[in-house]
Amino acid sequence: MKIDIRNITHTYDVDVLHDISFVLEAYKSVAIIGISGSGKSTLLRLMSGLEKPTSGDIYIDDQNVLEPNYKKHIGFIFQHHNLFPHLSLEENITLVLEKTRGVDKLTAKDTAHKYLSLLHLEDQVYKKPRNVSGGQAQRASIARALSVDPSTIFMDEPTASLDPILTFEVLSAVQELRGLGKNFVFVTHVLSFVRDFADYVIFMNEGQISEHGTPDILDHPRTQALKDFMIKVK
Ligand code: ADP
Ligand code: MG
Repeated sequence: MKIDIRNITHTYDVDVLHDISFVLEAYKSVAIIGISGSGKSTLLRLMSGLEKPTSGDIYIDDQNVLEPNYKKHIGFIFQHHNLFPHLSLEENITLVLEKTRGVDKLTAKDTAHKYLSLLHLEDQVYKKPRNVSGGQAQRASIARALSVDPSTIFMDEPTASLDPILTFEVLSAVQELRGLGKNFVFVTHVLSFVRDFADYVIFMNEGQISEHGTPDILDHPRTQALKDFMIKVK
C-alpha cells in the first residue's frame, strides 16, 4: 500500500498531531506503536477517514481518504467489538452485506460463513455476541470487516480488552489472514505481534512520528523515546 501523509495537524483542545508528513510505499502490514496519548488512535482515525484533520491531507493508494468512496474500501476494528448485540454472528455480516452492498440473501449467507470459518468461528455462526467469548466476538468483527472485501483493514488495539489467551487467539487468527492480500494498519502494545506480523513500524511520540522502519528498529532504537518505550513495554 501507499501511505502519503501531508502536513497533518490535529487539534482538540490542545495540539495532538504536529505537522506530520510521511510517505511509505510497498508495505502491507504497518504497526503504529507508542505510549498512551502519543496520538496513535488519532492518526489511525484520520488515515481511515473517520475523522477530518484540522489541516493537511492524507492519501492512501493515491486516494484522498476524505472522498466518500474511500470508506467502501476499508474496514475498521475498534478496541471493543461493535457487533449488533441482538443479531447472531451470521446476521451481523449478512445485514451489512445486504443493506450496504446490495448483496442477495443467499450470497450474503455464503460470504458470512466463508469469513466466519476463516476466523475459526464455523461452530458459532448462530450465536449472539453475548454468548461467545470476547475473543470470538472480536474475531467475528474482523470477519465482518473482511466480508465487504476492503483493501485496507485498520485496527486500533483490537485485543486491549482481552486476556492473554484470547489475545493470542485473535492475533494468531489475524496472522493467518496474510495470504488474503489485504493491507493492515494497526495499533497494538503486543510487540511479539508487531515482530511477527508487521513489515513496517511507526513509533509515535508526543504527536509526531519519532522513529520508523522495519521491525528491527525495536532491537536497535535510535531515539531515547523509543529506548524508554521498549523498556516500559517489555
Ligand atoms: P493514543 O491512541 O496514542 O493513546 P490518542 O490519539 O487517543 O492517543 O490521543 C492523543 C491525545 O489527544 C491525548 O492527549 C488525548 O487525551 C487527546 N484526545 C484524543 N481524542 C480526543 C477527543 N475526542 N477529544 C479531546 N481530546 C482527545
Ligand atoms: Mg489509542
